[in-house]
Amino acid sequence: MAEADRRAELADNLARVRARIGAATAAAGRDDEPQLIVVTKFHPASDVRLLAGLGVTDVGENRDQEASAKTAELEGLPLTWHFIGQLQTNKAKSVVRYADAVHSVDRRALVSALGKAVASAERERDLACLVQVNLDPEAASGRGGVLPSEVLALAGLIADTPGLTMSGVMAVAPRGGDPAEAFARLASASARVTERFPGATMVSAGMSQDLEQAVAAGATHLRIGTDVLGARRTVR
Ligand SMILES: *Cc1c(COP(=O)(O)O)cnc(C)c1O
Repeated sequence: MAEADRRAELADNLARVRARIGAATAAAGRDDEPQLIVVTKFHPASDVRLLAGLGVTDVGENRDQEASAKTAELEGLPLTWHFIGQLQTNKAKSVVRYADAVHSVDRRALVSALGKAVASAERERDLACLVQVNLDPEAASGRGGVLPSEVLALAGLIADTPGLTMSGVMAVAPRGGDPAEAFARLASASARVTERFPGATMVSAGMSQDLEQAVAAGATHLRIGTDVLGARRTVR
């Protein structure tokens, strides 16, 4: 597709998503509109550049290899990079070179790896860390986040690690369930966290399919991929 056509398509999609966010914010009686993070995984750096030109300030990526290539190519653009995917400890060193925030902190070993990586990296700012909460009612802890009962312990470890800022909680609504009910549980996890860590106000929730429910439940950050960029080559 020609660049001008792609630009027009992205502008159109963005306008639609922003209108949905505006409507959901009003419907929820909120006056603080959540931050849109456009999830650009599987889409080329050229798309990210177009998005930046269209006023997008925050982007999300879920694989280190792809993200580090894109951020290198796009150095200098005024973008905040959010890492939102499962993260192996041996990738921590790479991620702290370009990420402003990691939404997917889900175990103690990852907190120490990120802490060590930040200590040896040349960063101007702390790394914002969010605890990923597993909202699957059948969940065992591990993949896809910690159980709600384990959030405070991991939050405390983040808060005690120099170079990391305990910034909030993140979740993906379980497949097949009611997202409103799941996001309500995330909101109560967030309430427990902010009671202990008053600055940790980020609530990262809501994707293309369930952004309205996330806004209603108090999300501060929405992670939208498909409805801005179109379908990805590979479904993950
Ligand atoms: C891919 C991804 C998104 C975006 O999902 P869409 O359905 O494409 O909007 C949001 N959050 C996470 C963690 C993702 O991996």
